[in-house]
Amino acid sequence: MKSKDFDFDIVIVGLGPTGGTLANLLAMNNLSVLILEREAGIYNLPRAVHFDDEVMRVFQTIGITKTIAKKLIINKGTKFLDENGRLILDWPRPKVITENGWYPSYRFHQPDLERSLRQKLKIFTKVVTLQNSEVIKTINHKNFSIVNYKDLNTGNIFSVKSKYIIGCDGANSFVRNEMKTEMKHMGFEQRWAVIDLILKTKKTNLPDRTIQYCNSIRPATYCRNVGKRRRWEIALKENESAEKFFEDKTFWSFLSQWVSPHEVDIERKTVYTFQSAIAKKWRKGRLFLVGDAAHLTPPFMGQGMCAGIRDASNLAWKINICCKIGHNEKLLDSYQSERSSNVRDYINTAMKMGELLNSIGGTKVSNTVYAQQDGTIKMNSIKPVLGKGLGDIKDKNRGKTFPSLKIDTNEYFDSLFSCNPILITNKKFNPSKLKIKAYNASKIPEIKNVLKDFDTSSLIIRPDRFVLGSTDKNDLKNFTESYLNEIYIS
Ligand SMILES: Cc1cc2nc3c(=O)[nH]c(=O)nc-3n(C[C@H](O)[C@H](O)[C@H](O)COP(=O)(O)OP(=O)(O)OC[C@H]3O[C@@H](n4cnc5c(N)ncnc54)[C@H](O)[C@@H]3O)c2cc1C
Repeated sequence: MKSKDFDFDIVIVGLGPTGGTLANLLAMNNLSVLILEREAGIYNLPRAVHFDDEVMRVFQTIGITKTIAKKLIINKGTKFLDENGRLILDWPRPKVITENGWYPSYRFHQPDLERSLRQKLKIFTKVVTLQNSEVIKTINHKNFSIVNYKDLNTGNIFSVKSKYIIGCDGANSFVRNEMKTEMKHMGFEQRWAVIDLILKTKKTNLPDRTIQYCNSIRPATYCRNVGKRRRWEIALKENESAEKFFEDKTFWSFLSQWVSPHEVDIERKTVYTFQSAIAKKWRKGRLFLVGDAAHLTPPFMGQGMCAGIRDASNLAWKINICCKIGHNEKLLDSYQSERSSNVRDYINTAMKMGELLNSIGGTKVSNTVYAQQDGTIKMNSIKPVLGKGLGDIKDKNRGKTFPSLKIDTNEYFDSLFSCNPILITNKKFNPSKLKIKAYNASKIPEIKNVLKDFDTSSLIIRPDRFVLGSTDKNDLKNFTESYLNEIYIS
């Protein structure tokens, strides 16, 4: 079918951080995108408060880092304390620039980020955002998809035909129900009160780090958020009602260790059930799940939203290629196979942190935990790899992060490859013989060093900045075509 047979290339259901990121990445590839969002505006209260360097690099691709940087702080890390206030696990986030070109960890205010993503979308003439629009039906044909949505202002129902429908519609995903796929629960489920405060006075006794108070009766988390915002997350006891906990005398008797009522404004207090679960299927024909619709992570590592942004980055370029060149089952299937094992590693580690917080688990929350000479136990951030998918799993470089390179005072190498894979090489080649854009290391010295670090002569890099394959062979035509056959079908 030709593009004119469709109303839009893509319909995105839900405009949270995942939908906003994905829409930007697709629009940058000149696709037409309809975003349907049930709510009238941005959800104005914070949920996520942390993201990492990999996610910041995706925001760099979208071009919002300058705007959001003004409202970020660099996160210094997390300490786990036992019931006596002793440090039992230290997870520092050193202030050094990572391979992704950013600091390892940032604190942010989720509504600020969502506003920036929406603002950026306004520059794309082929993006239409409809708020107050609830998706009520999806139809999944072999060659196209149809979405029915209700305009909540008028009650009118509309039907839209697109190449793909992508459910970024959060934890209670409607698209997931339509796909008839279940969530596989991974074992952690606990109700936590979340209290966001705004300081009215300077409080020097509040730490800069996140503190996890491990306790068998009342585990709690303190987060140093941006500006004057501070958060406490506090586990509710098994039969404790939210109403009871939020009675002034109960929660203030707990919080008064740190702040008193006259020192703060309460921005909101609510209860969430922290869960660990992953959808069995992330794709059915032309329907996809991305972000919380596909997986739920307890927030102890601040990784739930990050996983959704990584999903968006993995899927966007594959969808782009399928829209422009042709539907490719194998390419689209690689989305779940690459992403689900990665997110499962984060969920498992977050669950172990949850057990440690509840004092029912040990400090060995991941294989990056180690004892130092002085006996303190430290953790490095985990870096789960991409699951099996595209490329040769035996290739030593497949799935590694291609580093962010500044090739000029103002230009990043990243900006040269946002739609299609590219080749970098220090071998001689004839550009007219290759079906891929290629860069010679002799022209860009930074590339030479990267090839040395990867111990190879040539690398194919995917648009999401991961390495697809590497070789030392001279025959670049054969090498590149074997990989490109996985991606492009004519
Ligand atoms: C207390 C707490 C702390 C957290 N901290 C962190 C953290 O520090 N770092 C981190 O990375 N993550 C964190 N998370 C997780 C993070 O908030 C979520 O992963 C993230 O918000 C999910 O984004 P999303 O876009 O996938 O879904 P959502 O933000 O839930 O967006 C889904 C959107 O879809 C819309 N929608 C739903 N159904 C329909 C429909 N039928 N039609 C049209 N629209 C529809 C909804 O209105 C909504 O706007 C935290 C979560 C909680 C609860």
